[in-house]
Amino acid sequence: MNHELNCNQVVTLLTFYIENKLDEKLSHCVREHLNKCKDCQEKYLKLKRILENFSEIRSKINEEEISDLKQYETPQYVTFKENLSAYVDNELSDNENIKIKKIAISNPLARKDLEEVYAFKQLLHSSFNKTKSNLKQDYAKKTLERMYSKSTQTKINPFYKLVGLFFCLIAFMILGIINILHF
Ligand SMILES: [Zn+2]
Repeated sequence: MNHELNCNQVVTLLTFYIENKLDEKLSHCVREHLNKCKDCQEKYLKLKRILENFSEIRSKINEEEISDLKQYETPQYVTFKENLSAYVDNELSDNENIKIKKIAISNPLARKDLEEVYAFKQLLHSSFNKTKSNLKQDYAKKTLERMYSKSTQTKINPFYKLVGLFFCLIAFMILGIINILHF
């Protein structure tokens, strides 16, 4: 690809260019244009600064969250993690259930895990329901198709009856004519 990009094309590609998501040829074309065009270069620098600030803020938030949550990685939390799936599946004894619930209430890390597991379960459930309703739709479609083919059959049937009746009439008429000719 050797053709030159225009300003509009370059501007739409800028984010991808900054995030290194363009293939070599395309990013070469953008670079060539930026070297020649001051307008686009300004936009490029501005956008680059915004994106850098944004990713800096994002990584800082993550770091703070992680350092905040680190203090909750207690032995209690380890027991919680070990029993989490059994708890969600309702496979624990009453006493164990209460223990896990207590940890989940007092420990935000445990709460977060629990929420994630439930969200995941919900996702599974909803996708299961989706396939179920798809199946239902399929079934309804097939039933409709069957009904439709039946109704076309019943539409054809009276026609055959009429044709049969018509041939019977002609046969009787011919028989009658033969009878008349005989006498
Ligand atoms: Zn330009």
